[in-house]
Amino acid sequence: MSRREPRIVIIGAGVAGITAAHVLKKAGFTDLTVLEKGADVGGVWYWNRYPGLTCDVPSQIYQFGWAPKADWSKLWASGPEIQRYHRDVVERAGLADLIRCNVEVTSAVFDDKTGEWTVTTKGGETIPADFVLCATGVLENPAFPDIEGLDEFAGDVVHTARWDDDVVTEGKRIAVLGTGSTGVQIVSALQPGAERLTHFVRSPQWVLWAPMKLPQLPGTAAILGRLPKVHRRVYRGLLWGSGILPDIALNPNWRRKAVQGYARFSLLSQVRDRALRRKLTPDYEPLCKRQVISGTYYRAIQAPNAGLVTDAIEKITPTGIVTADGVEHPVDVIVLATGFRAHDYMRPMEITGADGLTLDKAWANGPRAYRMTAIPGFPNLFTVLGPNSPTGSISLQHSAEVTAKYLAQWIEQWSRGDVDRIEVTEEATDRFYEQVAEAMGPTVWNTGCNSWYFTEGGTIDLWPFDRKTMEQMLGEPDPVDFTLVASPSPARRVRR
Ligand code: NAP
Repeated sequence: MSRREPRIVIIGAGVAGITAAHVLKKAGFTDLTVLEKGADVGGVWYWNRYPGLTCDVPSQIYQFGWAPKADWSKLWASGPEIQRYHRDVVERAGLADLIRCNVEVTSAVFDDKTGEWTVTTKGGETIPADFVLCATGVLENPAFPDIEGLDEFAGDVVHTARWDDDVVTEGKRIAVLGTGSTGVQIVSALQPGAERLTHFVRSPQWVLWAPMKLPQLPGTAAILGRLPKVHRRVYRGLLWGSGILPDIALNPNWRRKAVQGYARFSLLSQVRDRALRRKLTPDYEPLCKRQVISGTYYRAIQAPNAGLVTDAIEKITPTGIVTADGVEHPVDVIVLATGFRAHDYMRPMEITGADGLTLDKAWANGPRAYRMTAIPGFPNLFTVLGPNSPTGSISLQHSAEVTAKYLAQWIEQWSRGDVDRIEVTEEATDRFYEQVAEAMGPTVWNTGCNSWYFTEGGTIDLWPFDRKTMEQMLGEPDPVDFTLVASPSPARRVRR
């Protein structure tokens, strides 16, 4: 049977892009090109290099199921160790030759006549493609705060997602803005060396205590390294066990209450000063925002050289930060741990689908993708870890793998010449979002806080189902939900 080889362009070489490349290569597709704008693979683990960066998901589950590593140095690995792992996986899986770093995609345009995509890079190169897979990440575009005077500050200003090693923090008066996972990690890392560290907190977060500096249990690396079958079983066991996370997030049950109680206890047991504790107590339920985990933050913020400021920032002068109470806090370095524009996804790339429909227009009311991956109006283009991905509740490596395997099935149909143009319908996408809205009701994310989970339109951009449901929804293509067009041109149907 004749088979045509699809030209597949994957944009992004982070967790999602590496997974997609591996899955598609394993499925037998050979014309794969991965374009990565960074100088290295790794995605968030390449871009985020701030001091103290640690993954708050245990290492034995925060890895690719198809490339398990036995010898993590810690139970919770550091950013640099995770980044080394990504480089190593790419080499070992034979993906390095497919990946082109330092290549930024500026646009992707669909041609209605030929059914092809043209991907254009910043360098002016154009790459034709039959399929475009956007694996561009969620936490990719740093959010810079709009504070009067920030540009006039005379010292260093650095965003955690674009850390600059030339910025000296040792012995300096440091201001950290932001109280998410990043802010908490960097406060803990910078406080010991600072002359003074001031944490500016607009909204305190619950910080769940965990011993994140612990090494792996003795013998773990030796046993799992020597017994790959056991290692795979351990991984699957952890994946199964981590099913407790969506359960807690989705259902208001006693398990949720227990974890929330533990978050409150973490604060109560580590901060004895009542006034400080009041300042550190959020006005929403634990787990409502992406849960912050740290074994060191509460200790760091109570150190003699540290301080917490909860008064709103009014402006920044060349030498310090002025708060609403009129006090000027003199600082040498401002660290912005102010998060990301989490709903931009593929933007600022300009994506134009069928009939000239732009992504900006299609997403005017917020990002939408059927089952995290397909967008009406954009044939043969898919997202891997796109809108509504389970950030924080299900393993992202596993979710990317499930999605990539699903996409491999669609691409296989194209290869066989059964179909040329694969486009999800508006109706199926609407139906999916009705399910999402209904399932979102009782989730903990919907209990009255504001976080990066919320889109501007007020919807929650997360996966409100469990892992099994995800595996079912993306188990195999459901043709009823798609408009499928076979090529009218016999020339397109031949093997290339
Ligand atoms: P984030 O959770 O969005 O937190 C941003 C912080 O900046 C918030 O405290 C926010 O306050 C504050 N902020 C924003 N604009 C401000 C302004 N103009 N003035 C004062 N404060 C301002 O961002 P993040 O900490 O970078 O974390 C994002 C996500 O990255 C996490 O939720 C997690 O999923 C991931 N992450 C993971 C790890 C890990 O270990 N796995 C580590 C770091 C990050 P408000 O709350 O008041 O808006």
